[in-house]
Amino acid sequence: MARAIYPGSFDPMTLGHLDIIRRASKLFDEVIMAVVGNPGKSPLLPMDIRKNLIEESVKDLRGVKVEEFQGLTVDYAKATNTTVLIRGLRAISDFEAELGMAQANKQLFPELETIFLMTKAEYSFISSSTVKEIARLGGDVSQFVPHPVNDYLREHFSRGTKQK
Ligand code: ADP
Repeated sequence: MARAIYPGSFDPMTLGHLDIIRRASKLFDEVIMAVVGNPGKSPLLPMDIRKNLIEESVKDLRGVKVEEFQGLTVDYAKATNTTVLIRGLRAISDFEAELGMAQANKQLFPELETIFLMTKAEYSFISSSTVKEIARLGGDVSQFVPHPVNDYLREHFSRGTKQK
């Protein structure tokens, strides 16, 4: 069985992430979306919420599992007996960091292959940080994120505004 891991912060999941996981799920029997919970990253969304929102967003995709992990991606890959990592590339600016990470990971776990899927042009400018910034300032992010994420962000930030 061909299995891959798609690791990330997914803080929150966007339509760019959804597009990558949808395409990856056609290439592999099983793809684990591995949500990283390393301390020090200080995400906006708590782990359980990030996971729930992903689960709701991918529920129609075959062979996609959502798991949480801490520590190094290579250690998680070894622990789950997986030798393929999926990463998405949006622009040249992603490439430099991703190349370094892929090379370091290869050094740490030589059997590991990183496979890059290029973003669909329409999602190439979408990042979790942009989405958070727009939502925080009261903007509409419905065209950038799956429905469950949109509902959560609307609720989260409107609550914040009401409290002020
Ligand atoms: P990380 O903190 O590990 O970069 P992210 O959640 O930001 O985690 O992203 C996870 C993966 O998804 C990365 O490979 C990233 O390049 C990719 N990605 C993020 N946004 C998009 C997008 N709009 N289109 C395609 N891939 C994307």
